[in-house]
Amino acid sequence: MRRRLAVVTVGCKANFADSAGIASRAMRAGFDVVPAGNPADVLVINSCTVTHRADRDSRALARRLRRGNPRAVLVMTGCYAQTSPDDRSLLPEVDHWIGTGEPEALSGLLRALAADSPPRMETPSGFAVDRLLGRTRMFLKIQDGCDAACAYCIVPKARGGIRSLSVADAVESARRAEEDGAREIVLTGIHAGRYGTDRGDRDGLAALLETLLSETSLCRFRLGSVEPLEITPKLVALLAGRQRVCPHLHVPLQSGSDRVLQRMRRPYTADRYRERLQRVSSEVPGIRLGADVIAGFPGETAADFEETMKLAGGGLLSCLHVFPYSARAGTESAGWRDDVPAAEKKRRVAMLRDADETLREKYLAGQMGRTLSVVAESARGEDGWFRGTSENYVDVAFRSPGCRVGELVPVRILAVRGRTLTGEDAGGR
Ligand code: SF4
Repeated sequence: MRRRLAVVTVGCKANFADSAGIASRAMRAGFDVVPAGNPADVLVINSCTVTHRADRDSRALARRLRRGNPRAVLVMTGCYAQTSPDDRSLLPEVDHWIGTGEPEALSGLLRALAADSPPRMETPSGFAVDRLLGRTRMFLKIQDGCDAACAYCIVPKARGGIRSLSVADAVESARRAEEDGAREIVLTGIHAGRYGTDRGDRDGLAALLETLLSETSLCRFRLGSVEPLEITPKLVALLAGRQRVCPHLHVPLQSGSDRVLQRMRRPYTADRYRERLQRVSSEVPGIRLGADVIAGFPGETAADFEETMKLAGGGLLSCLHVFPYSARAGTESAGWRDDVPAAEKKRRVAMLRDADETLREKYLAGQMGRTLSVVAESARGEDGWFRGTSENYVDVAFRSPGCRVGELVPVRILAVRGRTLTGEDAGGR
């Protein structure tokens, strides 16, 4: 019998795409890949290190998995494994520890762990692997690494410089995913707006998106995170003019104060951020815009925070991901005095999270009566209820007798329940 392997992912969309790569390699090595939560002989944690909390989550997950699977082989890989090799001693539960910078070592380990199984003949398509991991939207990683030097960020150290997938490989993956039934492809990357710059391309992300649209016909595309200055007119035109491009963007803000942005080494001012978002909102009505915001960066005064509240809560954005600043060893800002007292940091985080609630409520209320295109991700019970994600990235529960998981369904929105919209199949498919 083949040995079973499950990949458990912590962190961002890029990590989810990496997990599909790990699962592919495991299948080539001879494993049967099973969804996380199923019994498995080998458990791979694809860890994250973007915050201290992500480190903690990765460690807690390892301990929980070990308790539930005393006989499984436990492998820690991903960004946390790469940046914190010294933490090995904190986690005797983990059998193997391999960073993101050692893909060959991971492949070798997988081959050794699967040694009892004959290798597979076929390499599965990306989407087939996503489905094995229990997902109905495909995460296509088009780019890895980052050349920026944000003062607080460990990612360039963890992942290295920018590398882009070739256009031909991206098209091939998207076409195969579409043939395999994918109806939403999420283009992910660590710094996706810089796609192609390693080859000298200009506006590479927009050009790639245009090519993917012309080479496919059924699936829609979602952009992950795009930095404000990388929202080019061509990208806005695609968001505005092409139905198969989801009206949703995540645009990291981090701070609304020019002084803090400069200290963070972010390459824009609050006005330039505002101007980019205003342009995209006016050309793509109804677009959902989200942002990351850091509260309590070293040197952030009450007046700086006011600026952030003004920009973040001002109505251009409709959801905020708020993080309290915490120093990451190995970053530039780790050498600075973390001078915003913990209680004040907590207060600023709470204020931003309140603003987030208000923005979300307002945006969701604005969806009442609209018909949204929703990808059905899972069935709920047996009476025709499903849950899925709308084109504008809202969780939707809907009733559609006869619908199948994976399909795109037009859903008329009838109510808001917390952070979820509910509705019914509007027909006309
Ligand atoms: S752009 Fe800045 S925050 Fe984003 S990954 Fe690169 S260094 Fe980190």
